[in-house]
Amino acid sequence: MTKCRVCENNLTKVFCNLNKTPLANSYRNSLDEIDKEIHYPLKVFLCSNCMLVQLPETVVPEHIFTDYAYFSSYSSNWLKHASKLCIESIRKFSLHKDDLITEIASNDGYLLKNFKRNNYNNILGIEPAKNIASFANENNINTENIFFNEETSEYILKKYKYSKIIFSLNVLAHVPNINSFVNGIKKILHKDGCWIIEAPHLLNLINKTQFDTIYHEHFSYLSILALDYLFKKFDLRIFDINKIPTHGGSLRIFVCHQDAFYKENKSVPKIRDEEFEFGLNNEDVYLNFQKKVDIKKNKIIKYLENLNDEEIYGFGAPAKATTLINYCQIDKFISYIIDNNITKQNKYIPGTKIQIKNIDHLLLSKPKNILVFPWNISNEIKKELDYKGKFNYKIHTFDFE
Ligand SMILES: [Zn+2]
Repeated sequence: MTKCRVCENNLTKVFCNLNKTPLANSYRNSLDEIDKEIHYPLKVFLCSNCMLVQLPETVVPEHIFTDYAYFSSYSSNWLKHASKLCIESIRKFSLHKDDLITEIASNDGYLLKNFKRNNYNNILGIEPAKNIASFANENNINTENIFFNEETSEYILKKYKYSKIIFSLNVLAHVPNINSFVNGIKKILHKDGCWIIEAPHLLNLINKTQFDTIYHEHFSYLSILALDYLFKKFDLRIFDINKIPTHGGSLRIFVCHQDAFYKENKSVPKIRDEEFEFGLNNEDVYLNFQKKVDIKKNKIIKYLENLNDEEIYGFGAPAKATTLINYCQIDKFISYIIDNNITKQNKYIPGTKIQIKNIDHLLLSKPKNILVFPWNISNEIKKELDYKGKFNYKIHTFDFE
């Protein structure tokens, strides 16, 4: 029996089952390799003890992260988000110039470079993907190419001492051994330090039926209820929470040592209350989710059928496109998918024969319909298309927000 990754309770309750799919970010190089793709079950469980919604680990994490195709700096909105977060953090925590500022899964240094720009030079990136870590170092963002956990945290502590601020943005949900990760944070966090987490909120996933955010690289689906349980285990506590719009409704969560001086902000009990009112302490809300998913799936198929064989191009090939296309089996409706990330171009969406092309391909073909997969940044994409595309097209997004 599979056990909960936090509390080791047996996992018996199914939150949702999206059948078997290939790894969402493993874009294939050729059409022929489609038969060789490995499909893994995408079955998400609820732990009825600590209430963590989770996908049991079926894939070795090193396989997922060592040659990752995503460079954070490809999204202009994300760059703006990072630069704002840097300024807000410097103000909120009155940071000193020599305070160690660490980011886990620092990617190409998109966030830390903002601190350098503001003359905070004691920065440390931790990035498991070798190609991305090298790129960051070449650009003078001090980066350790390691997979962060309890064991590697000791190496970090020895070499760098304690971190005053630790960022992990959209990381915690992607960590298979979440206990080891949090224990590692506990070890490297300065006694007056703050760990800043950003993660999609499970409440929104359920409320807005965002089932396409479920994929193998996304192991935990986080609520404050489940995080309170997890942090208590490691003598940490949440002292502030901000709601932020990224990924269809995320939380920015501020965590400190249990006995640190930070006072709990009113936002913390407020969001706990919202979760209780929504019913996140009640199994029924979780166990009804599959029904909502299948209603949505049928709506999506009908919607595409009603476009009457007009050509449809997809725009954006994030992991959520892989889940949506594979679970709804809508590949037959889509000619190509456009993505600005050059490392994805000319590859294929996992599990499908859909090839990823650059925007010039779209401007030449002038398809009548454009289906935007990263619905969370659809405004950014609309702006780009309006700027570059001088032809008649209709944009479609599935109403996930
Ligand atoms: Zn549990």
